[in-house]
Amino acid sequence: MLAVLKAGGAYIPLDSEIPADRVNFIMQDSNAKILITSDEILERIDSQLNNHLIFNIDRQLSELSNYPTTKPETQNRKPTDLCYIIYTSGTSGMPKGVLLEHRNVLTYIRGALEIYPITHNHRALQGFSVSFDASVEEIWVTFAAGATLVVGTFDIMRSGDRFSSILNQLNITFLSCAPTLLSMVKEDIPGLKILIFGGEVCSTDMAHRWCKPGRLVYNTYGPTEAAVIATYLVLNPDEEVTIGSQLPGYDVRIVNEWLQPVGGEEEGEILIGGDCVARGYLNRDELTASKFIETDRYDGILRRYYRAGDIARYAPNGQIRFVGRLDAQVKVRGFRVELAEIEGLLLKFESIQAAAVTLDVPTQQLAAFVVETEGKTINREGIAEVLRLKLPYYMIPSTLDVVPELPLTTSQKIDRKRLPAPQIPLSFSAKREIIVCDT
Ligand code: AMP
Repeated sequence: MLAVLKAGGAYIPLDSEIPADRVNFIMQDSNAKILITSDEILERIDSQLNNHLIFNIDRQLSELSNYPTTKPETQNRKPTDLCYIIYTSGTSGMPKGVLLEHRNVLTYIRGALEIYPITHNHRALQGFSVSFDASVEEIWVTFAAGATLVVGTFDIMRSGDRFSSILNQLNITFLSCAPTLLSMVKEDIPGLKILIFGGEVCSTDMAHRWCKPGRLVYNTYGPTEAAVIATYLVLNPDEEVTIGSQLPGYDVRIVNEWLQPVGGEEEGEILIGGDCVARGYLNRDELTASKFIETDRYDGILRRYYRAGDIARYAPNGQIRFVGRLDAQVKVRGFRVELAEIEGLLLKFESIQAAAVTLDVPTQQLAAFVVETEGKTINREGIAEVLRLKLPYYMIPSTLDVVPELPLTTSQKIDRKRLPAPQIPLSFSAKREIIVCDT
């Protein structure tokens, strides 16, 4: 990432575990010039990769010695140049690339340095998958503060009961994670001075368990499309857990469907403005136009806002209460998943006439329901295999049930609340099914 940025490029971080099919799609969709990878990853997916220009760091590192060690000529880099593209789950059946510019990321870093008292003495864990923008918080905030970044290896992140003691041994003082990760950790991590929860709803119980004297615990909220986080609250075990208020440099509003600010405790959609707002979605002009809007209605100046699709309302103290989603996007153990992306894939099977996927919240498992096409029977193994080839592991449903019809709302949309309880496991033992949280 450092090298790509230094060379004036933009990076596209890919999780090392995503299937080759998704790598091929992202390489093609983004028109990326080169795939930087390693032996370990290639061993798994090389045979399924299309013909990309590959730089294998295990085999080709020595080639770099032919290049100058001095800093490259400073290009005329502009704040509006592209910094990174992050692919998130898309409703069309394919992931979508969010285009983040340098000014977006800088707005975030500046805001973060104002709210987190991180100094060069801190040690931060890099535990999030780099393909999520929460890793921008870990990596770039740490570097900007001159602090130390400790790489959260597979062994550290999957250490289960030993997670607390390992973080203590490593003297980790700064940790950003989804609440799910620490909900499974039984012992405290006494050395933690700054603990940031984000990416999904944070419970009062978590605030109670992790707030300690000498430690600042945050609940942060924000979508990838508005650079990492947009609101934050310093948690206090005696107070309600809300998503707080806007980060410095961010303009966060709750509005009704006519984009008017909501009054009192009325619910509305979260709108995010400021230099944090991304350029848009790559190759998805229509979606960009509907989610990234321009209006001058708030202060007479034409400004861009991102419609987050999150429902919220103000608490009496002015803080923002997160209520839920306007659409069928869910968070599975911190991962953002568009249920429609999985449904879209299921509908490609001839044997499937209709499909609905839902999240069973207590177990955090995805459940798929399908209606068979008349005269056809689904092939479970075949479906499981295709889903495994196309989707990241956290998007693969745990169950697949055939139902005579899908329950519909009065507006003819799938009524996920009326789907039956999931029954039959999808006949595929997902390698990582037992993992509690990959963030
Ligand atoms: P992502 O783009 O992966 O960061 O996901 C952004 C979405 O995650 C938001 O639009 C929310 O729906 C959800 N989210 C993020 N942070 C929180 C939070 N603190 N509480 C509730 N939902 C959250």
